[in-house]
Amino acid sequence: MLQKKDFYVNGEWIPPSSPNDFEVINPATEEAFAVISLGSKPDLNKAVTAARTAFQSWSLCNKIERIDLLESLGAVYEKRSSEMADAISTEMGAPIKLATKAQTAAGLGHIKAFIRAIKTFEFEHPLRKDTPDEYIIHEPIGVCGLITPWNWPMNQVTLKVIPAVGVGCTVVLKPSEIAPISSVLFAEFMHEAGFPKGVFNLVNGSGPEIGEAMSAHPNIDMMSFTGSTKAGIAVSKASSNTVKRVALELGGKGANIIFADADVAKAVKRGVIHCFNNTGQSCNAPTRMFVERAAYDEALHIAKQTADATQVGLPAQDGNHIGPLVSKIQFDKVQSLIQAGLDQGARLISGGVGKPEGFSSGYFVQPTIFADVSNEMRIAKEEIFGPVLSIIPFDTEDDAIKMSNDTSYGLTNYVQSGNVERTQRVSRRLRAGMVQTNGAGRASGSPFGGYKQSGNGREGGIHGFMEFLEVKAVSGWERTS
Ligand code: NAD
Repeated sequence: MLQKKDFYVNGEWIPPSSPNDFEVINPATEEAFAVISLGSKPDLNKAVTAARTAFQSWSLCNKIERIDLLESLGAVYEKRSSEMADAISTEMGAPIKLATKAQTAAGLGHIKAFIRAIKTFEFEHPLRKDTPDEYIIHEPIGVCGLITPWNWPMNQVTLKVIPAVGVGCTVVLKPSEIAPISSVLFAEFMHEAGFPKGVFNLVNGSGPEIGEAMSAHPNIDMMSFTGSTKAGIAVSKASSNTVKRVALELGGKGANIIFADADVAKAVKRGVIHCFNNTGQSCNAPTRMFVERAAYDEALHIAKQTADATQVGLPAQDGNHIGPLVSKIQFDKVQSLIQAGLDQGARLISGGVGKPEGFSSGYFVQPTIFADVSNEMRIAKEEIFGPVLSIIPFDTEDDAIKMSNDTSYGLTNYVQSGNVERTQRVSRRLRAGMVQTNGAGRASGSPFGGYKQSGNGREGGIHGFMEFLEVKAVSGWERTS
């Protein structure tokens, strides 16, 4: 059994103040494969003190030095990326191909993209050409508390750690206790890259214990949180007494609007595959497919074909199959929501409750599609976080927009149409932080984040590191008397 009980604080691995073992479960076997410790307040305090002390020099060091270290980190990350892919695949069940080519690769992509963005950013400049004396300085906000989920572990960790340390902040990371091994490995990478002690610290722990203590901590200047809306609200509440900045990246219930003038077969197949990717455990999954009535029958046919062809398999196997869900809690939640779909009268066209054939252990579920869903059903309202798609017919463009927006979430929506004016008009009217049209991927450095209860932060590129900066205005910059 892998023993990873220590925390990374002030440049070294230290044991927890009081032992509190926690087993990390391999979701494909339901058996523990590693042990970590759940930290307590004294552990957090040590990490915050280290980060606070390191902030004094790190915040003042030259941008070139910080970029050099990020480049070293990129080299270590690249060199050890197969270790990272193995860790992610084992801890959260992503099939090894996905863990390598998407999960691990996303981290390296973010490291490179932030280096590019930070290199070109002007941290100091006059307010305007006609106000040379009014000087604007973008300064690191301070010590940042970073909390991440288990579903895209390195994607989330690098989207926070890299911009924060890249602009001169110091950090305490608390990864998900469900999938912490990739973050422990990441701490090894930071150490090997040579970051000064205290710049990056890692404390494992539970949300209600360490997460809440971080949010309330008077010496943490900002919380950057990714996870469920429920936990995001708890972070905001606990942070409020210290008036710290809180950046939230929360859940989603993505709408995918397919008009009859789109390439319907291609759009539906793409939508189903995207919904099932990572076993449906993505905040931006297109889980509500709205199909124009004229294309509805064709869409159901293609959707069923695509779901029936989706393979479920072991994470260690090579291939494009989907793996298990991450945990028993997620398994039970997904099962109960599939049952709720049946109970509320949705028409099951593929999958259903129970494990797929051939799986007696592991948190494997059947890729599932419901047709004739109404936007009021639980499966259309709640974030399921499993491979479950709801298909809903619509008659007019206005109806499709109204139903898409009729949710408490607003993360990523999708529009498929052969008409450019319509695609753009609908994209403007969707209340969401991101809209992807006709299968277009997102450009590197494009801001990732949500409207409404999907959060208030933006990650990636310039928008992503601006969150970790304060802005200072100095008047009379060049005046001597
Ligand atoms: P979660 O909210 O259960 O846990 C996320 C993190 O928050 C974990 O580290 C957990 O320990 C911590 N936490 C839990 N309760 C807390 C509290 N009271 N105070 C402080 N921290 C607390 O979420 P999860 O199940 O790990 O992740 C899935 C969720 O994350 C989904 O809702 C998904 O949509 C969301 N997510 C959002 C994005 C995005 O960018 N918007 C990206 C990935 C995942």
